[in-house]
Amino acid sequence: MSASQVDQTDPSQDPLAGIAPALFLGLGSDGVYARTTLYEQVFGRLVALVDRLRDARAEVLRFPPVMNRRQLERSGYLKSFPNLLGCVCVLHGSEAAIRAAADRHESGGDWTTSLAAADLVLTPAACYPLYPLVAARGALPAGGLVFDVAADCFRREPSRSLDRLQSFRMREFVRIGSPEDITTFREGWIQRARDLAGELALPYSVDIANDPFFGRVGQVMAVSQLQQALKFELLIPYYERAKPTACMSFNYHREHFGQVWGIKASGEAPAHTGCVAFGMDRLTVALFANHGVDPGRWPASARRALEL
Ligand code: AMP
Ligand code: ZN
Repeated sequence: MSASQVDQTDPSQDPLAGIAPALFLGLGSDGVYARTTLYEQVFGRLVALVDRLRDARAEVLRFPPVMNRRQLERSGYLKSFPNLLGCVCVLHGSEAAIRAAADRHESGGDWTTSLAAADLVLTPAACYPLYPLVAARGALPAGGLVFDVAADCFRREPSRSLDRLQSFRMREFVRIGSPEDITTFREGWIQRARDLAGELALPYSVDIANDPFFGRVGQVMAVSQLQQALKFELLIPYYERAKPTACMSFNYHREHFGQVWGIKASGEAPAHTGCVAFGMDRLTVALFANHGVDPGRWPASARRALEL
């Protein structure tokens, strides 16, 4: 951190502290908030704007905040981000065993020691549940497929920063097809995202990126992701001199999901996949942080784009 940068980890120095009460209400855990009427009004306008950008061929699917644990295990998530994953745990067993565990809480004990993992994890990204669904439909049609998916996502990264939530909403357009299909899709979306940020009057940059893969092996994965240019991000600073926040990502998974799930493109070759992810909460916070808490006074082009 340079001397001129603000310490974003110190809440007393956080330049966003002033706008936070207009947007979020604390619910007892860092990064988990109730959203205000004002926030949801703008969020809804942003959802409608992304709806208008959707490819006419896209199939729309909405996923729940939980997904099948085995599917996520098979996707390789535990190799990449075991530290971020949340798993649903419940009290199993007989009525007596469940009662005994719950009663321990009443007598000041710890009921959670009796929890055991269920067949569910908290959805960490909106596109994971899609690939097994597509695989179950058989061979891809000529030209591949495009989807519009969304989910409430969970990542275990508690923080007081308004841009790092544990529970947040992700919208994605996903392309499944040939390598050329994915490259064209991704290039097109990087340009559309630039146009979108410009219309919303948000300062931005687009840069190559790597994921925060877990551990020492993860560092190798991150380097390989950079070398192969698999991930780009749209970065938006929330205020002057702020470290920019990744508000969208443009990902090329190559044949990873095609291979894991047996999705066939043409002949026996595994399909390639890519996705463009909109961090809907990060984009909404970016609007308020840059333009203030009165949308009536936002730049005209942003108001027009959002139909405010
Ligand atoms: P990723 O799969 O990491 O590329 O995430 C897709 C998008 O989700 C990112 O570009 C962010 O906009 C958003 N996102 C990721 N993590 C968080 C978080 N902890 N809080 C809020 N938004 C997030
Ligand atoms: Zn995705």
